[in-house]
Amino acid sequence: MKIKQRAALFIILVQLLLAASAAAQVRHEINFPDVLGYKTLKCDFHMHTVFSDGTVWPTVRVDEAWREGLDAISITDHIEYQPHKQDVPPNFARSYEIALPGAKEMNILLIKAAEITRETPPGHFNVLFLQDIDPLNTEDLIDATKAAAAQKGFIFWNHPGWKPEHRGWFDIHTQLYENKLMHGIEVTNGESYYPEAHQWALEKNLTMLGNSDIHQPALESETSADNHRTMTLVFVRERNADALKEALFEGRTAIWFKNQLIGKGKYLEALFKESVRIGKPHHRTKDAVWVTLTNASAVGIEMERVGTQGPEKLTLPPNATSLLKTARAEGTEEIKLSYVVRNFLIAPDKGLPVDLTIDLR
Ligand SMILES: [Zn+2]
Ligand SMILES: [Zn+2]
Repeated sequence: MKIKQRAALFIILVQLLLAASAAAQVRHEINFPDVLGYKTLKCDFHMHTVFSDGTVWPTVRVDEAWREGLDAISITDHIEYQPHKQDVPPNFARSYEIALPGAKEMNILLIKAAEITRETPPGHFNVLFLQDIDPLNTEDLIDATKAAAAQKGFIFWNHPGWKPEHRGWFDIHTQLYENKLMHGIEVTNGESYYPEAHQWALEKNLTMLGNSDIHQPALESETSADNHRTMTLVFVRERNADALKEALFEGRTAIWFKNQLIGKGKYLEALFKESVRIGKPHHRTKDAVWVTLTNASAVGIEMERVGTQGPEKLTLPPNATSLLKTARAEGTEEIKLSYVVRNFLIAPDKGLPVDLTIDLR
């Protein structure tokens, strides 16, 4: 190869490398509408670093959160399980301290947290909004959760269906719950969904959470309806840690898990209403009408008809506009199409009922 050619090739390679590193820092926004006067924050409250059994340095978690369009994260290294301790000296505060400067630069809310780790039952519990993690390092679980509660920490039960042989709600969970030492529960964790946890959350009014519990580096930076980390949507008065804490204690959450939303009916209903825009009929014949349906959210909406009118199945892909043709009787001023949104779960196996109203006037 001639020197000129080599130089040209070298320049191309450098440009490619620069383009790759610049692209790595792009933030891919996730679209979910604000609802009921609250802002919708995209959050992941469960992840690990080399300071427990994760394989990444804490700053990496913040970079990932930025690229994947998250608003808030907490690093929840295990207090009692430190497999890298020969190389990384145990220090419960360090993962937070190391991640904080980058979080400030990227405007990611970083919540100081830890994972209390016990055999199943009782299992694992995350605590968010801690001042000092050290007092949680106790022999007895109740003492650890009391130390967390003394700091007004938000405590939730992690991956409650993790060990199938010990699956269930035990006396210790009742004890925690009745003493207000458990405020929330992971209904989903990573790739797992726990219908029984979903039911307990509804019955006991526990805040529903869905988190990644990621240990390895996040290899995907672009989020799509089919390919994204499991996350919690939190409906806050303001985008800050205090408002986030208030919202979590008040149970204002929904979960984005695979191509599903899971949460209380009122929040899923509000998300549906703010996401789906029904256009004005733009074309009509004697017996049919055409309208557009726009889905301004990141989740693909999958509906099944429960009424008598409209297509049997109606799918609204994310961030896209779909065309709907439906029959109309002469002289009608309004068409009401009744559906169930199969992938908006308001209880295990129960989709959200919705009406689509088309105004013909
Ligand atoms: Zn765990
Ligand atoms: Zn964990």
